[in-house]
Amino acid sequence: MMIGDVPRHVVVIGAGPAGLTAAHELTEAGIAVTILERGKDLGGLGGTTSFEGLHGTYRFDFGGHRFITHNADLLRLVEELVGDDLLTATRHSVIRFGGRTYDYPLSLKNLLKTAPPGLIAGASLDLARLALGRRAPSDDSFAAWIESRFGRTLYRTFFEGYTAKLWGIDPRQLSADWAEQRISLVDLKEVARRLLPGAGQGPRTYARGYRYPRHGFGMIFQRLAERVIRQGAVVRTGVTVNGLATGGGRVRAVLTDKGPLTCDAVISSVPLPDMVAMTGGASSLKFRGLRFFNMVMATPDVSPFTWQYLSDPDMLATRLQEPRRRSPQMSPPGMTSLMLEIPCDPGDALWTVADDVLFERACGDLRRLGIDASKATGEYFSARTPYAYPVMDLAYRAERRRAFDHLRQFENLIQCGRQGTFRYVFTDAAMETGQMAARGILSRSDVREAIYEHRNERTVIETESIA
Ligand SMILES: Cc1cc2nc3c(=O)[nH]c(=O)nc-3n(C[C@H](O)[C@H](O)[C@H](O)COP(=O)(O)OP(=O)(O)OC[C@H]3O[C@@H](n4cnc5c(N)ncnc54)[C@H](O)[C@@H]3O)c2cc1C
Repeated sequence: MMIGDVPRHVVVIGAGPAGLTAAHELTEAGIAVTILERGKDLGGLGGTTSFEGLHGTYRFDFGGHRFITHNADLLRLVEELVGDDLLTATRHSVIRFGGRTYDYPLSLKNLLKTAPPGLIAGASLDLARLALGRRAPSDDSFAAWIESRFGRTLYRTFFEGYTAKLWGIDPRQLSADWAEQRISLVDLKEVARRLLPGAGQGPRTYARGYRYPRHGFGMIFQRLAERVIRQGAVVRTGVTVNGLATGGGRVRAVLTDKGPLTCDAVISSVPLPDMVAMTGGASSLKFRGLRFFNMVMATPDVSPFTWQYLSDPDMLATRLQEPRRRSPQMSPPGMTSLMLEIPCDPGDALWTVADDVLFERACGDLRRLGIDASKATGEYFSARTPYAYPVMDLAYRAERRRAFDHLRQFENLIQCGRQGTFRYVFTDAAMETGQMAARGILSRSDVREAIYEHRNERTVIETESIA
């Protein structure tokens, strides 16, 4: 479908990976672009914050990021932007549970070596029962998906508590779409493929190598923003979009806390339910928030691990990481830092509890993990995002569809990005959706459905990276 003339002025809402990539594409084609960003910094969830400690500067992402993609053009763009500061690293992650350390993703060999005998016996019995039984694997919920493929023992050990902690809801209320994406299942899925008829086809690979900028993930978007500004875009930070002025099936102006801005088209990475509300609709789509508790450690290294997944339900965080594992420049020489990713929601106890209280609890968890908490210097701070994960509950698919149907009435409004399309996607896919939105505008085609379907939940997102 062709939609009107190529616009002269496009407003891009959000200076995260999706918005900046859209602006990059448009300004390259000579279109006037204004980017409106509510935060004071650029990069969105792909940004990096600095912390001045007693021994120098520490850098923290919003959850440790790494760049992986199978899009050669996107990789080229990132390489071009970051140049020699783009490092190549290898991921080495583990799952911590019940005082033991398992490989991530889970593998049969490691499970047999590490798990207590009771767990091995229970899991073997389950798998034997599943292999002999005639019940088809279930896709009814996350819990049913795992139990019907791997049995109750593995589900209860590795998934039930972790998943409830991460999402804040019972895993039986969570869509099986989330299970499709759980990379930690990949190796077990390969086992199931061999053991169980109909468990799936085709081998999958798993990305261990990744790219990471020397001074934090945010370097990519700092450089991209610089380029976009050089290409003529106007970037306004500290501006919150709170409505759209519409008429005749089109957006005429973007309304902000600093006044209105007229435009010919809008590319928006505003969270999907927020955009529905701004345009007179209602949506029950929800996000899970995260609090990042960042702390300094007076030791060169805490562990060799990129990520430690903390499956014990009574531990604060779902993941523990050491930014220095991604790049040595993330902390001053001889020092390191830790980040705990703590799932919570705005206003709840974990969201609001004071940093000093959280510090004591964090040190308790570190000790349980065998980490010397006496090395913590007492320098710490929190960062928070209310929009970390789109909650894929059992109703989300229909609700997501309803949101897109509502927004379809505005022909020059294109939602993109992770929050904007309510998709659990990585940075590369968020950037791709920004690119698609811009190209749709330039070619005067309605690409919205293609954006909404881009990298759907059935695609395993951590596999097949070329980065
Ligand atoms: C804990 C965690 C770990 C992750 N790890 C990785 C990883 O290792 N690798 C990877 O590739 N990806 C990772 N991701 C995903 C990655 O962060 C996202 O895919 C990416 O940031 C999405 O980009 P975006 O532009 O769509 O959204 P965002 O980065 O959220 O940007 C949207 C921007 O829009 C702005 N905005 C929203 N509403 C308004 C408004 N009303 N007015 C003005 N501005 C507004 C926001 O302030 C924000 O800056 C991770 C995400 C999380 C939460």
